[in-house]
Amino acid sequence: MNVRSELLSQLPLRENLRGLSPYGAPQIDVPIQLNVNENTHPLPQTVIDAIAQEVSKAAATLNRYPDREFVELRELLAKYLGHDLDRENIWAANGSNEILQQILQAFGGPGRSVMSFGPTYSMYPLLASGTDTEYIAGQRADDFTLSADSAAAQVREHTPNIVFLCSPNNPTGTALGLDVIEAVYEAASETNAMVIVDEAYAEFSLANTKSALSLLGGRQRLIVSRTMSKAFGLAGARVGYLAAAPEVTDAIRLVRLPYHLSAVTQATAIAALKNVDLLLAQVEEIKTQRDRIVSTLTELGLKPSVSDSNFVFFGGLDDPHAIWQGLLDAGIIIRDNGIAGTLRVTAGTEAETTAFLERLTELLSAQK
Ligand SMILES: *Cc1c(COP(=O)(O)O)cnc(C)c1O
Repeated sequence: MNVRSELLSQLPLRENLRGLSPYGAPQIDVPIQLNVNENTHPLPQTVIDAIAQEVSKAAATLNRYPDREFVELRELLAKYLGHDLDRENIWAANGSNEILQQILQAFGGPGRSVMSFGPTYSMYPLLASGTDTEYIAGQRADDFTLSADSAAAQVREHTPNIVFLCSPNNPTGTALGLDVIEAVYEAASETNAMVIVDEAYAEFSLANTKSALSLLGGRQRLIVSRTMSKAFGLAGARVGYLAAAPEVTDAIRLVRLPYHLSAVTQATAIAALKNVDLLLAQVEEIKTQRDRIVSTLTELGLKPSVSDSNFVFFGGLDDPHAIWQGLLDAGIIIRDNGIAGTLRVTAGTEAETTAFLERLTELLSAQK
């Protein structure tokens, strides 16, 4: 144990946090960063200017607390989502990670449990331990799919208080059918449990994939969470949000910190949403690169999963760590989620994608 961790162990830390390390993917400064599913395209200059202007206006008000109810932002988010939602259905926070944390604070906590189906987003168990909520690791099939029957049966067996469904799923990239969400909601109804569909990557979905937003009507305990970090290219702004019945947002108001969304954050998000078409202009191009990755990896004899997202999860590697390292040595970072024989890569710009595919092809032929 080093000196700092020795000193840390002297503190009266909560028992379930002892020995843990802070979470975070490596932030390594290399030219091509395809490891955390950001939108790698630069923001359009018009949007940068609009944000700067709106933030400058907000700066003049910083002696006052911000609008605690962020009404304008909620209105713009409701309009963006459509589906007959209005501002009473919307809540926002500092990234969808904070949204998920607030959901756990309101509906989880000591003596309660949250279930998810792995492999899935690695933040779920960490948010659970941070809020002292028991984490139940549900299972997917060997090919990482999750059927309605299997998911509902696992919910009935474990009776969690909260279910997190990640769709499109990180790290595997594939969306769930609405039948899975309906079946899980029905199973969860028997124990009055909350069901959250994390749609961080919804904007990248394939043409026939449907959003769980269409299921919200009449389902009081269903929540759809979204983020501006991925398709909008605003990971640095930290804005996530949810859509649900108005009473769900009232539950979250009981645990949110007053003024949790700063005036600067609100101004940034508002300016971005007023330019939503410009911001989302890159989405089709990213999907093109994503599909190109899937087809090239297939030609190379690898096994990419169906991707509804801006990244591709692929198997069929004998030595994923060697490939990961070989790419890093060439200035390209992708993600090793520690799942045997697999890696995950974000679809970048055309040039970034080309560099990744060329280097990967070289590394694979050198291994033969
Ligand atoms: C990236 C990601 C998020 C987004 O987190 P933010 O806090 O909004 O940046 C949420 N869920 C999943 C599954 C993700 O991959």
